[in-house]
Amino acid sequence: MSRIDRITVQTYRYTLDDFGSSIAVYQPGGKLELTRFLVTIDTDDGLSGSYAPHFGATPHAQAQVKEMARSLIGLDPEQRERIFERLKLSHRHYDKSGIGAIDTALWDLAGKKYGVPVARLLGGFRERLPVYASTVPGQRARGGLDSVERYADFAESCLAVGIPAFKIHGFFDGNPKTEIAIMSAVRERVGPDMKLMTDPASSLKSFMDAVEVGRACDDLGLFWYEDPYRDASSSAVAHKRLRGFIRTPLLIAEHIRGFEQKADFALAGGTDIMHIDPELDGGITGTMKLAHFCDAIGMEVQLHTAGPMHRHCMAAITNTHFYELGLVGPDNPANGMQPPIYADGYGDEVGNVGQDGCVSVPAGPGLGVLYDVNRINSGEVDRVEVRGR
Ligand SMILES: [Mg+2]
Repeated sequence: MSRIDRITVQTYRYTLDDFGSSIAVYQPGGKLELTRFLVTIDTDDGLSGSYAPHFGATPHAQAQVKEMARSLIGLDPEQRERIFERLKLSHRHYDKSGIGAIDTALWDLAGKKYGVPVARLLGGFRERLPVYASTVPGQRARGGLDSVERYADFAESCLAVGIPAFKIHGFFDGNPKTEIAIMSAVRERVGPDMKLMTDPASSLKSFMDAVEVGRACDDLGLFWYEDPYRDASSSAVAHKRLRGFIRTPLLIAEHIRGFEQKADFALAGGTDIMHIDPELDGGITGTMKLAHFCDAIGMEVQLHTAGPMHRHCMAAITNTHFYELGLVGPDNPANGMQPPIYADGYGDEVGNVGQDGCVSVPAGPGLGVLYDVNRINSGEVDRVEVRGR
Protein backbone atom coordinates (compact mmCIF):
# COMPACT_ATOMS: atom_id res chain seq x y z
CA MET A 1 0.00 0.00 0.00
CA SER A 2 1.16 3.52 -0.79
CA ARG A 3 1.95 5.95 2.01
CA ILE A 4 2.15 9.73 1.76
CA ASP A 5 5.83 10.49 2.02
CA ARG A 6 6.23 14.12 1.05
CA ILE A 7 4.01 17.18 0.61
CA THR A 8 5.42 20.24 -1.14
CA VAL A 9 3.76 23.65 -1.12
CA GLN A 10 5.33 25.92 -3.69
CA THR A 11 4.40 29.60 -3.70
CA TYR A 12 4.88 31.45 -6.99
CA ARG A 13 4.39 34.96 -8.26
CA TYR A 14 3.42 36.23 -11.70
CA THR A 15 2.41 39.45 -13.39
CA LEU A 16 -0.69 40.09 -15.48
CA ASP A 17 -0.39 42.78 -18.13
CA ASP A 18 -3.15 45.34 -18.70
CA PHE A 19 -4.85 44.76 -15.36
CA GLY A 20 -5.38 47.50 -12.79
CA SER A 21 -5.93 47.20 -9.06
CA SER A 22 -7.43 43.69 -9.24
CA ILE A 23 -8.08 40.73 -11.54
CA ALA A 24 -11.36 42.40 -12.46
CA VAL A 25 -10.10 45.82 -13.61
CA TYR A 26 -8.95 46.45 -17.17
CA GLN A 27 -6.22 49.06 -17.38
CA PRO A 28 -4.09 49.40 -20.53
CA GLY A 29 -0.42 49.32 -19.58
CA GLY A 30 -1.22 48.21 -16.03
CA LYS A 31 0.80 45.53 -14.22
CA LEU A 32 -0.88 43.38 -11.59
CA GLU A 33 1.35 41.15 -9.47
CA LEU A 34 -0.30 38.07 -8.00
CA THR A 35 0.78 35.19 -5.74
CA ARG A 36 -0.62 31.66 -5.93
CA PHE A 37 0.55 28.18 -4.85
CA LEU A 38 0.94 24.61 -6.04
CA VAL A 39 0.61 21.62 -3.71
CA THR A 40 2.20 18.29 -4.66
CA ILE A 41 1.73 15.04 -2.76
CA ASP A 42 4.23 12.20 -3.29
CA THR A 43 4.12 8.63 -1.96
CA ASP A 44 6.80 6.21 -0.86
CA ASP A 45 6.20 4.05 -3.96
CA GLY A 46 6.51 6.79 -6.56
CA LEU A 47 2.95 8.07 -7.02
CA SER A 48 2.35 11.79 -7.28
CA GLY A 49 -0.59 14.18 -7.49
CA SER A 50 -0.80 17.94 -7.53
CA TYR A 51 -3.15 20.89 -7.68
CA ALA A 52 -2.72 24.62 -8.23
CA PRO A 53 -5.83 26.48 -7.01
CA HIS A 54 -7.17 29.46 -8.93
CA PHE A 55 -9.68 31.60 -7.00
CA GLY A 56 -9.13 29.52 -3.87
CA ALA A 57 -5.38 30.17 -3.64
CA THR A 58 -5.86 32.61 -0.79
CA PRO A 59 -3.11 33.29 1.76
CA HIS A 60 -5.15 31.68 4.55
CA ALA A 61 -5.89 28.57 2.44
CA GLN A 62 -2.17 28.31 1.77
CA ALA A 63 -1.34 28.67 5.48
CA GLN A 64 -3.82 25.89 6.29
CA VAL A 65 -2.37 23.60 3.62
CA LYS A 66 1.09 23.96 5.14
CA GLU A 67 -0.27 23.22 8.61
CA MET A 68 -2.45 20.31 7.46
CA ALA A 69 0.41 18.68 5.54
CA ARG A 70 2.19 17.67 8.74
CA SER A 71 -0.68 15.43 9.85
CA LEU A 72 -0.86 13.50 6.55
CA ILE A 73 2.60 11.93 6.38
CA GLY A 74 2.30 8.12 6.48
CA LEU A 75 -1.40 8.00 5.56
CA ASP A 76 -2.87 6.04 2.65
CA PRO A 77 -3.47 8.65 -0.11
CA GLU A 78 -6.52 6.74 -1.36
CA GLN A 79 -8.35 7.07 1.96
CA ARG A 80 -9.65 10.47 0.93
CA GLU A 81 -12.71 10.28 3.18
CA ARG A 82 -10.51 9.54 6.19
CA ILE A 83 -8.21 12.43 5.35
CA PHE A 84 -11.18 14.74 4.74
CA GLU A 85 -12.62 13.86 8.16
CA ARG A 86 -9.28 14.30 9.89
CA LEU A 87 -8.69 17.75 8.39
CA LYS A 88 -12.26 18.87 9.00
CA LEU A 89 -11.89 18.01 12.66
CA SER A 90 -8.39 19.40 13.18
CA HIS A 91 -9.36 22.74 11.60
CA ARG A 92 -12.85 23.01 13.04
CA HIS A 93 -12.13 26.47 14.45
CA TYR A 94 -11.33 27.81 10.97
CA ASP A 95 -12.99 27.96 7.54
CA LYS A 96 -11.18 24.74 6.45
CA SER A 97 -10.40 26.24 3.02
CA GLY A 98 -7.07 24.40 2.99
CA ILE A 99 -8.78 21.04 2.51
CA GLY A 100 -9.64 21.82 -1.13
CA ALA A 101 -6.11 21.86 -2.57
CA ILE A 102 -5.03 18.75 -0.65
CA ASP A 103 -8.15 16.77 -1.50
CA THR A 104 -7.88 17.71 -5.19
CA ALA A 105 -4.20 16.70 -5.32
CA LEU A 106 -5.22 13.31 -3.83
CA TRP A 107 -7.87 12.82 -6.55
CA ASP A 108 -5.25 13.77 -9.16
CA LEU A 109 -2.91 11.17 -7.67
CA ALA A 110 -5.59 8.46 -7.80
CA GLY A 111 -6.51 9.28 -11.39
CA LYS A 112 -2.87 9.06 -12.43
CA LYS A 113 -2.43 5.78 -10.55
CA TYR A 114 -5.32 4.16 -12.42
CA GLY A 115 -4.69 6.00 -15.71
CA VAL A 116 -8.15 7.60 -15.90
CA PRO A 117 -9.56 11.14 -15.63
CA VAL A 118 -10.98 12.20 -12.25
CA ALA A 119 -14.42 12.59 -13.90
CA ARG A 120 -14.39 8.86 -14.61
CA LEU A 121 -13.45 8.01 -11.02
CA LEU A 122 -16.39 10.16 -9.89
CA GLY A 123 -18.80 8.40 -12.23
CA GLY A 124 -19.08 10.37 -15.46
CA PHE A 125 -22.37 11.89 -16.56
CA ARG A 126 -21.41 14.19 -19.46
CA GLU A 127 -18.43 15.09 -21.67
CA ARG A 128 -19.44 18.61 -22.73
CA LEU A 129 -20.13 21.38 -20.23
CA PRO A 130 -22.52 24.21 -21.22
CA VAL A 131 -20.98 27.56 -20.35
CA TYR A 132 -22.20 30.86 -19.03
CA ALA A 133 -20.17 34.02 -19.50
CA SER A 134 -19.68 35.56 -16.06
CA THR A 135 -18.59 39.17 -16.53
CA VAL A 136 -15.94 41.22 -14.86
CA PRO A 137 -17.57 44.00 -12.81
CA GLY A 138 -18.28 47.37 -14.38
CA GLN A 139 -15.66 50.10 -14.08
CA ARG A 140 -15.89 53.89 -14.16
CA ALA A 141 -12.48 54.27 -15.81
CA ARG A 142 -12.48 53.97 -19.59
CA GLY A 143 -12.25 50.45 -21.02
CA GLY A 144 -13.80 47.14 -20.02
CA LEU A 145 -17.47 47.30 -19.07
CA ASP A 146 -17.55 51.06 -18.58
CA SER A 147 -21.16 51.68 -19.62
CA VAL A 148 -24.56 50.03 -19.79
CA GLU A 149 -24.15 49.90 -23.58
CA ARG A 150 -20.93 47.92 -23.32
CA TYR A 151 -22.67 45.22 -21.27
CA ALA A 152 -25.21 44.86 -24.07
CA ASP A 153 -22.41 44.80 -26.68
CA PHE A 154 -20.50 42.13 -24.78
CA ALA A 155 -23.58 39.94 -24.22
CA GLU A 156 -24.35 40.16 -27.92
CA SER A 157 -20.79 39.13 -28.83
CA CYS A 158 -20.98 36.14 -26.46
CA LEU A 159 -24.30 35.05 -27.96
CA ALA A 160 -22.80 35.39 -31.45
CA VAL A 161 -20.13 32.76 -30.64
CA GLY A 162 -22.72 30.36 -29.25
CA ILE A 163 -22.55 31.02 -25.50
CA PRO A 164 -26.05 30.29 -24.20
CA ALA A 165 -26.08 32.25 -20.94
CA PHE A 166 -24.69 35.51 -19.53
CA LYS A 167 -24.28 36.67 -15.92
CA ILE A 168 -23.97 40.34 -15.09
CA HIS A 169 -21.64 41.60 -12.40
CA GLY A 170 -22.70 45.25 -12.29
CA PHE A 171 -20.91 48.33 -11.00
CA PHE A 172 -21.22 47.21 -7.36
CA ASP A 173 -22.20 50.75 -6.38
CA GLY A 174 -25.24 49.65 -4.42
CA ASN A 175 -27.65 51.43 -6.73
CA PRO A 176 -30.64 49.29 -7.76
CA LYS A 177 -31.35 51.61 -10.69
CA THR A 178 -27.94 50.83 -12.22
CA GLU A 179 -28.45 47.08 -11.81
CA ILE A 180 -31.86 47.27 -13.44
CA ALA A 181 -30.61 49.47 -16.30
CA ILE A 182 -27.89 46.93 -17.20
CA MET A 183 -30.27 43.96 -17.02
CA SER A 184 -32.84 45.77 -19.17
CA ALA A 185 -30.31 46.84 -21.81
CA VAL A 186 -28.84 43.34 -22.08
CA ARG A 187 -32.25 41.67 -22.33
CA GLU A 188 -33.37 44.11 -24.99
CA ARG A 189 -30.22 43.49 -27.04
CA VAL A 190 -30.02 39.67 -26.88
CA GLY A 191 -33.73 38.90 -26.94
CA PRO A 192 -35.55 36.18 -25.02
CA ASP A 193 -33.45 33.11 -25.85
CA MET A 194 -30.16 33.82 -24.02
CA LYS A 195 -30.42 32.93 -20.35
CA LEU A 196 -29.54 35.94 -18.18
CA MET A 197 -28.47 36.09 -14.56
CA THR A 198 -27.36 38.88 -12.27
CA ASP A 199 -25.00 38.93 -9.29
CA PRO A 200 -24.83 42.20 -7.35
CA ALA A 201 -22.23 40.43 -5.18
CA SER A 202 -23.82 41.66 -1.93
CA SER A 203 -23.56 45.29 -3.02
CA LEU A 204 -27.18 46.44 -2.66
CA LYS A 205 -27.57 48.51 0.48
CA SER A 206 -30.82 47.16 1.88
CA PHE A 207 -33.35 44.33 1.81
CA MET A 208 -35.90 46.50 -0.01
CA ASP A 209 -33.30 47.35 -2.67
CA ALA A 210 -32.91 43.58 -3.09
CA VAL A 211 -36.68 43.26 -3.52
CA GLU A 212 -36.70 46.06 -6.13
CA VAL A 213 -33.99 44.42 -8.24
CA GLY A 214 -35.61 41.01 -7.72
CA ARG A 215 -38.90 42.25 -9.15
CA ALA A 216 -37.04 43.55 -12.21
CA CYS A 217 -35.47 40.08 -12.52
CA ASP A 218 -39.02 38.68 -12.61
CA ASP A 219 -40.13 41.15 -15.28
CA LEU A 220 -37.07 40.43 -17.46
CA GLY A 221 -37.23 36.64 -17.04
CA LEU A 222 -33.85 36.15 -15.37
CA PHE A 223 -32.68 32.58 -14.81
CA TRP A 224 -31.30 33.30 -11.35
CA TYR A 225 -30.59 36.17 -8.94
CA GLU A 226 -27.42 35.83 -6.86
CA ASP A 227 -26.17 37.32 -3.57
CA PRO A 228 -28.21 40.51 -3.66
CA TYR A 229 -27.52 42.65 -0.61
CA ARG A 230 -25.15 43.54 2.17
CA ASP A 231 -25.84 40.76 4.61
CA ALA A 232 -23.37 38.96 2.28
CA SER A 233 -25.94 36.16 1.99
CA SER A 234 -25.32 34.97 5.51
CA SER A 235 -28.97 34.73 6.66
CA ALA A 236 -31.17 31.86 5.50
CA VAL A 237 -34.17 33.54 7.15
CA ALA A 238 -33.65 36.80 5.22
CA HIS A 239 -33.39 35.00 1.90
CA LYS A 240 -36.41 32.86 2.65
CA ARG A 241 -38.31 36.12 3.19
CA LEU A 242 -36.90 37.54 -0.04
CA ARG A 243 -38.08 34.44 -1.90
CA GLY A 244 -41.57 35.32 -0.71
CA PHE A 245 -41.49 38.66 -2.56
CA ILE A 246 -40.12 37.51 -5.93
CA ARG A 247 -40.40 34.64 -8.41
CA THR A 248 -36.84 34.46 -9.84
CA PRO A 249 -34.83 31.58 -8.30
CA LEU A 250 -32.16 32.71 -5.84
CA LEU A 251 -28.60 31.39 -6.04
CA ILE A 252 -27.12 31.80 -2.55
CA ALA A 253 -24.43 30.30 -0.28
CA GLU A 254 -21.26 31.37 -2.15
CA HIS A 255 -20.02 32.82 1.14
CA ILE A 256 -20.97 29.96 3.44
CA ARG A 257 -18.31 27.31 3.95
CA GLY A 258 -18.76 23.60 4.45
CA PHE A 259 -21.25 21.02 3.25
CA GLU A 260 -23.06 20.68 6.60
CA GLN A 261 -23.59 24.44 6.90
CA LYS A 262 -24.75 24.64 3.29
CA ALA A 263 -27.16 21.73 3.76
CA ASP A 264 -28.58 23.55 6.80
CA PHE A 265 -28.98 26.70 4.71
CA ALA A 266 -30.87 24.81 2.02
CA LEU A 267 -33.16 23.05 4.51
CA ALA A 268 -33.91 26.39 6.19
CA GLY A 269 -35.25 27.66 2.87
CA GLY A 270 -32.46 30.19 2.20
CA THR A 271 -31.92 29.40 -1.47
CA ASP A 272 -33.43 27.85 -4.58
CA ILE A 273 -30.08 26.82 -6.12
CA MET A 274 -27.01 25.86 -4.08
CA HIS A 275 -23.72 27.61 -4.79
CA ILE A 276 -20.65 25.44 -4.16
CA ASP A 277 -17.06 26.65 -4.43
CA PRO A 278 -15.10 23.45 -5.10
CA GLU A 279 -11.82 24.95 -3.93
CA LEU A 280 -13.17 26.49 -0.72
CA ASP A 281 -15.83 23.91 0.17
CA GLY A 282 -13.66 20.86 0.77
CA GLY A 283 -12.34 20.07 -2.70
CA ILE A 284 -13.82 17.36 -4.88
CA THR A 285 -14.89 15.27 -1.88
CA GLY A 286 -16.79 18.15 -0.23
CA THR A 287 -18.31 19.25 -3.53
CA MET A 288 -19.66 15.83 -4.42
CA LYS A 289 -21.13 15.26 -0.94
CA LEU A 290 -23.11 18.48 -1.20
CA ALA A 291 -24.12 17.98 -4.84
CA HIS A 292 -25.54 14.54 -3.99
CA PHE A 293 -27.39 15.88 -0.97
CA CYS A 294 -28.97 18.60 -3.11
CA ASP A 295 -29.89 16.07 -5.78
CA ALA A 296 -31.82 14.13 -3.16
CA ILE A 297 -33.95 17.15 -2.27
CA GLY A 298 -34.57 18.26 -5.87
CA MET A 299 -32.19 21.20 -5.76
CA GLU A 300 -29.74 22.18 -8.50
CA VAL A 301 -26.23 23.29 -7.67
CA GLN A 302 -23.91 25.72 -9.41
CA LEU A 303 -20.15 25.47 -9.12
CA HIS A 304 -18.46 28.79 -8.38
CA THR A 305 -15.70 29.96 -10.78
CA ALA A 306 -13.70 27.85 -13.21
CA GLY A 307 -10.79 25.44 -13.45
CA PRO A 308 -9.83 21.87 -14.33
CA MET A 309 -11.19 20.34 -11.12
CA HIS A 310 -14.46 22.25 -11.51
CA ARG A 311 -14.80 20.64 -14.94
CA HIS A 312 -14.25 17.12 -13.61
CA CYS A 313 -16.81 17.67 -10.84
CA MET A 314 -19.40 19.14 -13.19
CA ALA A 315 -18.90 16.25 -15.60
CA ALA A 316 -20.08 13.90 -12.83
CA ILE A 317 -22.89 16.03 -11.34
CA THR A 318 -26.35 15.46 -12.81
CA ASN A 319 -28.15 18.33 -11.04
CA THR A 320 -26.33 21.35 -12.45
CA HIS A 321 -26.81 23.64 -15.41
CA PHE A 322 -23.80 25.76 -16.40
CA TYR A 323 -20.03 26.04 -16.13
CA GLU A 324 -19.03 29.52 -14.93
CA LEU A 325 -16.64 31.12 -17.39
CA GLY A 326 -15.50 33.83 -15.04
CA LEU A 327 -14.40 36.47 -15.03
CA VAL A 328 -14.51 37.53 -18.68
CA GLY A 329 -14.78 40.97 -20.24
CA PRO A 330 -14.58 42.63 -23.63
CA ASP A 331 -11.08 44.10 -23.29
CA ASN A 332 -9.29 42.06 -20.62
CA PRO A 333 -6.39 40.31 -22.35
CA ALA A 334 -6.67 37.17 -20.18
CA ASN A 335 -8.99 35.64 -17.62
CA GLY A 336 -7.57 37.17 -14.45
CA MET A 337 -8.95 34.31 -12.36
CA GLN A 338 -6.65 31.83 -14.08
CA PRO A 339 -2.91 31.78 -13.34
CA PRO A 340 -0.81 31.44 -16.53
CA ILE A 341 0.61 28.04 -15.55
CA TYR A 342 -0.69 25.63 -18.19
CA ALA A 343 1.65 24.14 -20.79
CA ASP A 344 -1.12 22.40 -22.72
CA GLY A 345 -3.35 25.29 -23.80
CA TYR A 346 -5.91 24.83 -21.01
CA GLY A 347 -7.96 28.00 -20.71
CA ASP A 348 -11.18 29.52 -19.39
CA GLU A 349 -11.69 32.31 -21.85
CA VAL A 350 -14.39 33.03 -24.41
CA GLY A 351 -12.05 31.71 -27.12
CA ASN A 352 -11.94 28.30 -25.40
CA VAL A 353 -15.69 27.74 -25.83
CA GLY A 354 -16.77 25.43 -28.65
CA GLN A 355 -19.43 26.21 -31.24
CA ASP A 356 -21.85 24.16 -29.15
CA GLY A 357 -21.48 26.69 -26.30
CA CYS A 358 -19.58 24.14 -24.22
CA VAL A 359 -16.09 23.44 -22.92
CA SER A 360 -14.56 19.99 -22.66
CA VAL A 361 -13.37 17.94 -19.71
CA PRO A 362 -9.59 17.34 -19.73
CA ALA A 363 -9.17 13.79 -20.98
CA GLY A 364 -5.82 12.74 -19.52
CA PRO A 365 -5.25 10.83 -16.26
CA GLY A 366 -6.04 12.66 -13.02
CA LEU A 367 -6.96 16.28 -13.60
CA GLY A 368 -5.62 15.88 -17.13
CA VAL A 369 -3.72 19.15 -17.31
CA LEU A 370 -0.03 19.85 -17.74
CA TYR A 371 1.53 22.51 -15.56
CA ASP A 372 4.24 24.76 -16.97
CA VAL A 373 6.79 23.76 -14.37
CA ASN A 374 9.46 26.13 -15.66
CA ARG A 375 7.12 29.09 -15.34
CA ILE A 376 6.10 28.12 -11.81
CA ASN A 377 9.74 27.53 -10.80
CA SER A 378 10.88 30.82 -12.26
CA GLY A 379 8.25 32.65 -10.19
CA GLU A 380 8.93 30.70 -6.99
CA VAL A 381 9.07 32.85 -3.86
CA ASP A 382 8.71 30.15 -1.22
CA ARG A 383 8.85 26.36 -0.95
CA VAL A 384 7.85 24.27 2.06
CA GLU A 385 8.49 20.53 2.06
CA VAL A 386 7.07 18.24 4.72
CA ARG A 387 8.78 14.85 4.65
CA GLY A 388 8.29 11.53 6.35
CA ARG A 389 11.95 10.81 6.70
MG1 LIG B 1 -21.14 35.47 -7.05
